[in-house]
Amino acid sequence: MLMKNKSIWLDVKNKALKRVTKDLECDTLVVGGGITGMSTLYQLRKNNVKALLIERNKCGEGVTARSTAKITYLQEKEYMNIRKFGKVDLAKGYLESQITAVKELKRIIDKENITCDLKKSESLLFTNDEENKVKLLEEYNFLKESGVDAEFVENGENFKYAIKVSDTYLFHPVKYVIGLKNILQEYVYENSKLEKISREDGICKCYVNNHVIKCRHVVIATHYPYFILPLLFPFKNHVETSYVGAVKVREFKNVNAINIDNETISYRYHQDDKNNYLIYLTNSLASPNIKSIKDNFENLKKKYNFDYVWSNKDIITNDYLPLIGKLDEDDDGVLLACGYNTWGMTNATLASMILRDIILKRQNKYIELFRPDRLLSWNKVVRFFPDAYGSVKAILKSNKGNVNNRRVIYTKLDGKNVAIYKDENNKEHIVLNRCPHMKCRLVFNEVEKTWDCLCHGSRYDIDGKCIEGPSNHDITFKDSEEN
Ligand SMILES: Cc1cc2nc3c(=O)[nH]c(=O)nc-3n(C[C@H](O)[C@H](O)[C@H](O)COP(=O)(O)OP(=O)(O)OC[C@H]3O[C@@H](n4cnc5c(N)ncnc54)[C@H](O)[C@@H]3O)c2cc1C
Repeated sequence: MLMKNKSIWLDVKNKALKRVTKDLECDTLVVGGGITGMSTLYQLRKNNVKALLIERNKCGEGVTARSTAKITYLQEKEYMNIRKFGKVDLAKGYLESQITAVKELKRIIDKENITCDLKKSESLLFTNDEENKVKLLEEYNFLKESGVDAEFVENGENFKYAIKVSDTYLFHPVKYVIGLKNILQEYVYENSKLEKISREDGICKCYVNNHVIKCRHVVIATHYPYFILPLLFPFKNHVETSYVGAVKVREFKNVNAINIDNETISYRYHQDDKNNYLIYLTNSLASPNIKSIKDNFENLKKKYNFDYVWSNKDIITNDYLPLIGKLDEDDDGVLLACGYNTWGMTNATLASMILRDIILKRQNKYIELFRPDRLLSWNKVVRFFPDAYGSVKAILKSNKGNVNNRRVIYTKLDGKNVAIYKDENNKEHIVLNRCPHMKCRLVFNEVEKTWDCLCHGSRYDIDGKCIEGPSNHDITFKDSEEN
């Protein structure tokens, strides 16, 4: 099979649903049809809240579709990092929330009978570095003290030392989102983009496809909130990119693993109706530049003869905890959920339960822990500077665009700065050469054939349709008057 430059999870049929074509009213409008938005719609509808969901493209085809999709609470260095900044209690609270989310995700799949290749799988957190053994033992003790049934194992197939837990899962994230979409389709609108929100007398007016949706609450589940949030949102996070491949293997193994060493390695197995695959991730990077995008794909491809390769990005928060809840403490009109630190299968499920309880004015012990307006402490803000420095360096390096690629031309057309990619059949793909989010220049990602903004991670398809935020606008040349 020829290698596909896209996620393995995107090889499924995803029937398009209706668009918004008239003014609507509801209690809660959920914006974004990834795992966060769809799980939230599910929890709200199950509790008789009149909720609707709008998705600007097709549900499940954003960041969720490019994940490795492990459902686990054994999460790289999360608890170690939280312990470093806060109290052990905070790490314990986060751990407990993740265990709750694993159980809830499994409960929903069973209850709704969703066919999404769910498999029980053991999770490993491992190291091959002798010096990291102590760290791993500390983590093991933390888990045991927190009541987790974990084992410490040595000299396994791919590791020297590892922590192992067994009550975790693997699944197909897009089949899961489509499963929920099928159950809830009456309330879901696709190809319907939120442009603007205004607030009047406790009512939100959401502008979508030239229509207005009036509601009491809006849940922003767009991965990276498309507008720059107040409360120093950019100081609370950075975006990290990783490179992933899937290769056919003979045997399916009930295992998923991630290491704690300098170069991140994460893998899992996947079994569909026909084949078994190993899904392998490496090279997590805070600030990719043009060269590193290419090099990272080249490095990845050296490892296996992959059938699929792709990249993905997630929001990393400065205190390693997700941002879930009200945008403004005194107002439950606008709510959001993001900043999952690459653990969005559990955190999206958790977010849906927290948001449900805020909207229904119920108690939930995690509301306080993950509120987006929590205060920043100095040591957390300090984390921002190396990342910001890395981003500025990457942006400056990439400012000239793909200078060594003869297929990419930067020029002016009709007085506008444009970028042109000439494909293998010499067909020209013309886009506006500025990211509408913060006006950064774009570079062409030759592997996935996307236009990428290196400032904040927005991505556009080859003809300029926005496929990942924070940007909320296309960069198509023909529609440029609208931008
Ligand atoms: C390499 C990598 C591997 C990962 N592996 C794992 C893993 O093994 N386990 C795990 O738990 N997590 C993992 N994650 C994290 C997880 O994939 C993400 O955190 C999660 O998928 C985010 O889901 P979401 O619904 O918030 O975002 P998305 O899936 O991106 O959904 C947001 C949706 O909002 C839509 N949208 C945006 N703007 C608008 C608008 N204006 N109007 C309407 N709709 C809009 C978008 O089109 C999109 O469909 C991984 C992340 C990365 C980067």
